[in-house]
Amino acid sequence: MTEAVIRVEGLGKSYQTAAGEFPALRGVNLRVDGGEYLAIMGPSGSGKSTFMNLLGCLDRPSSGAYFLAGANVAEMDRDALARLRNHTLGFVFQGFNLLPRMSLQDNVALPLVYAGVDKASRRARARRLLERVGLGQYADSLPNRISGGQQQRVAIARALVNQPKVLLLDEPLSNLDARLRLQTREEIRRIQKETGITTVFVTHDQEEAMSISDEIVVMKLGVEQQ
Ligand code: ADP
Repeated sequence: MTEAVIRVEGLGKSYQTAAGEFPALRGVNLRVDGGEYLAIMGPSGSGKSTFMNLLGCLDRPSSGAYFLAGANVAEMDRDALARLRNHTLGFVFQGFNLLPRMSLQDNVALPLVYAGVDKASRRARARRLLERVGLGQYADSLPNRISGGQQQRVAIARALVNQPKVLLLDEPLSNLDARLRLQTREEIRRIQKETGITTVFVTHDQEEAMSISDEIVVMKLGVEQQ
């Protein structure tokens, strides 16, 4: 069997609180193969964000193992972890976090500036990604010229511009109104199919999870229940 893109074994995370140690994740097991689209669903407080922070290498587990693209995350020092994060992962959060005075194209190209890519290639790659999310004609516009749903698609283009192996989406639709939510989730599904990128999508909305993903993991009290 080929190596999974994401493999999690007995992953646990406890927080120190005034009342003692609080186990937010209690031994989660998960495998995500290349090109799969997985939704993680659960009510507020079930450990979704805690789990996403671990998957995104933004925090370290208290127990268990996490292999990302074959690399054992627990064995990496801070610099190696930052490199892995920058090369392997694309993030999209609830807020779009676009810079208001920069054109959409420059917003999308931003990760490439940090990666030291030359200007002409940055422009070409950012434009290609904007076309991929259906917004090529707005490349030179500022973020306030487009809708919230379109801004979220720009954030997805920005997350993909570095050609990550995994796309992590943390409640990306919850700042949108009902109509845009439906539209944008269809768009996300289309973009995921076209790019074939391995995707993990977090939501508290059951209908959203069922309509968009290949597979759903339900979280409850820090444990996954298939
Ligand atoms: P979800 O994203 O599903 O709402 P979280 O991962 O944010 O769940 O939280 C899971 C549990 O862990 C909750 O009970 C929350 O109060 C607790 N928790 C989260 N972060 C911390 C923290 N930094 N310190 C203490 N407890 C935390």
